Amino acid sequence: MSEAAAFWHYFAPDYAAARERFIQAAQRAHAEVVTYTHPHAHGPNGAPLAIDVARIGPQHASRQLLAISGTHGLEGAAGSALQVAWLDTAAQALPADVAVTLVHALNPYGFAHASRTTENNVDLNRNFVDFDVPRPVNPHYDALHGWLIPERWDRDTLAAAKAATDRFRDAHGADTLFNTLASGQYTHADGLIYGGSQREWSNLTLERIVATHLAQAERVALIDWHTGIGEYGQPFFLCFNAEGSALQQRAAQWWGEDRVLDQRPHGLARPDYRGLVFRGVERFLGGRPMAGAVVEFGTRGPNASLASRLDQWLRFRAPQAPDVERDTQLRADLIDAFVPFSSLWRESVVTHGLAITAQTLDGLARW
Ligand SMILES: [Zn+2]
Repeated sequence: MSEAAAFWHYFAPDYAAARERFIQAAQRAHAEVVTYTHPHAHGPNGAPLAIDVARIGPQHASRQLLAISGTHGLEGAAGSALQVAWLDTAAQALPADVAVTLVHALNPYGFAHASRTTENNVDLNRNFVDFDVPRPVNPHYDALHGWLIPERWDRDTLAAAKAATDRFRDAHGADTLFNTLASGQYTHADGLIYGGSQREWSNLTLERIVATHLAQAERVALIDWHTGIGEYGQPFFLCFNAEGSALQQRAAQWWGEDRVLDQRPHGLARPDYRGLVFRGVERFLGGRPMAGAVVEFGTRGPNASLASRLDQWLRFRAPQAPDVERDTQLRADLIDAFVPFSSLWRESVVTHGLAITAQTLDGLARW
């Protein structure tokens, strides 16, 4: 095990640099590295986009940790840092019969282009639904869509949007508002939390990754690293194992009941999230037991959702009347909303992320 380095050795300035750090750290740790290159999407300068996978541990390990970064594109800068930090400091001390598969930049387009969504503007963490049956209905999203992503991004339009969502909250309650804005919608391709019309390339590739790298796994832990929910720099767990199940109890043993059970994001009822990566991995494992969670790191509290709207605005409205100074500042604001540059935040994320990974591996070893 090597010495922990300063956080700036782990956080990269952009996707291409993050990829390079990840691959180099994986090679230093003698992990097997496999690259899944995107067939047609490219980075901002035409650079290739790929999901890189590092696998470490015995080939036939029956217990495996699957840890994913970049499901929400730009949030991947944090998850990537945790993967690199773990490879550099802890990968040589794996328990017996435990292997680790690290998936770097599950949504490389979003990571490279500083957006939370994919090349098709799909929120990948709403894309793992069954597209052979009618898609889930979000009955109120349409009424709010025009307010949320206005033509112009200024004080008047933001005030009007706030008035509209306040009226909606008065009529339907805060939990219904949050559910409308967070659970997923399948009707507005230029909107928030759009789950898509078919399986994304990242979704299909994750199935290949599970089939290839977790073929021997009999028991699986999943960590999907995210940012934007919780207290500043602190972890926030969204465990999607069934309420009251043995698998949920196992996750609670690993990470603490107070952190896993009865979690209320932003103090509100948990939305009825559709099409989660978690559900996809469960399906790909074909009934083999999996316990796990989305692990978030808090940034701006509820204001992070304003940044998700800004993401959509920069993507669809700003190009209609570009303004380099405005767009540069707003893009920096968007990135800072999900991966703050503050050393306090970054140090805290690395410290907690490594501890959570260690707890998971301990738990897996005893499972
Ligand atoms: Zn996220």
